[in-house]
Amino acid sequence: MKIAVMKEIHEGEKRVPLIPPTVDKLVKLGAQVEIESGLGLTCRFEDADYQKVGATIGTSREEMLGAADIVLRLRKPPMDEVELMKKGCVHVSYLDPFNEVELVDKLKDAGISAVSLEMIPRTTVAQKMDVLSSQANLGGYVSVILGAEHLDKVFPMMTTPAGTIKPSRVFIIGVGVAGLQAIATAKRLGARVEAFDTRPVVEEQVKSLGAKFVKVDLGDTGQTKDGYAKELTPEQMAKQKEEMAKACAAADVVITTAQLFGRPAPRIVDKAMISDMQPGSVIIDMAVETGGNVEGAEVDKIVEIEGVKVIGLGNLPGRVAETASQMYSSNLGNFVDHFWDKEAKVFNMNREDEIMQGALITHNGEIVSEMYKSIMKK
Ligand code: NAD
Repeated sequence: MKIAVMKEIHEGEKRVPLIPPTVDKLVKLGAQVEIESGLGLTCRFEDADYQKVGATIGTSREEMLGAADIVLRLRKPPMDEVELMKKGCVHVSYLDPFNEVELVDKLKDAGISAVSLEMIPRTTVAQKMDVLSSQANLGGYVSVILGAEHLDKVFPMMTTPAGTIKPSRVFIIGVGVAGLQAIATAKRLGARVEAFDTRPVVEEQVKSLGAKFVKVDLGDTGQTKDGYAKELTPEQMAKQKEEMAKACAAADVVITTAQLFGRPAPRIVDKAMISDMQPGSVIIDMAVETGGNVEGAEVDKIVEIEGVKVIGLGNLPGRVAETASQMYSSNLGNFVDHFWDKEAKVFNMNREDEIMQGALITHNGEIVSEMYKSIMKK
């Protein structure tokens, strides 16, 4: 089976979908792997590094896409490349399906089996192919590093002959994968960390990392069966803001990571809350690309509001591109491996498997994802 791996063309993207150790793994499974020339250069992998582990090098995207049984990439495919793939081709990438209705329709009409890696269920078996987790984890780490860089205070307590320096205070809103890594990173740097999430189950995890959980009585919040947060009512949201305002005002760095599956991120920090913060404080809005948790945050910009730096830089995992590529590549390799028939040496599109049921959006000219259909109906 031919696997084509396409070079990333999104401006500024330094992550690469597949690195040589994963190519090695796929070749050993019996796949023919063709990578686009220059695939790994942004992470210092030369074409020769891929050739050494058995890949061939393609130069024409058109030919590569036309011959592939499986296409692997990082970001969603460009519209004009969908028709270049042959019917029945399995396309695996981030797809952002809820915001890409036209693209999903095009993939359906072209008979492509499009896998959206974001839709892989958050189960124990699927953990090794969960790109949302691997990349959010790094995003959480980067957010703290950015906060430390832009704050004009140190994070740890220091007892020095010149006096005792108090530790900086970091407040993290939203404690999923990114938030947990942000807590761990801020703690390692010596900050005093507080955190909040609407899912009450998170309190124990926050405490186990040595941070304080900010308690807010919002009544029934709960979580979906997949562990995602439920949208708050307007009354609950108002109450949350009131309590968050106090914690934000006391913080030197606020990191927001709150997301709602398949919908825009909730707006949690408003301008009134920002104006109550100390000038010189820093906010990092990790949800800026999906609507933003912070009023006034702008994608890919650092803006100053009432003396507070509001950081809305996108693609945080891309700032540690080599590690992010290593993890993404490993996730992709594990996905292909999971569905690989080791005897016949072919990809087995097992529609009974719950991972495939969750992640497959289009197949055989139809939209097959029940989750996609139900969310798009609303
Ligand atoms: P996410 O990116 O969807 O959201 C980030 C966090 O924001 C979540 O913790 C959510 O509860 C929180 N949030 C939403 N609205 C909020 C609000 N108004 N105020 C404060 N916080 C708010 O989350 P994620 O990191 O993708 O994790 C989602 C779920 O999946 C979690 O339950 C996580 O434990 C679970 N998970 C499971 C596995 C696994 O078992 N394989 C792997 C990764 C994640």
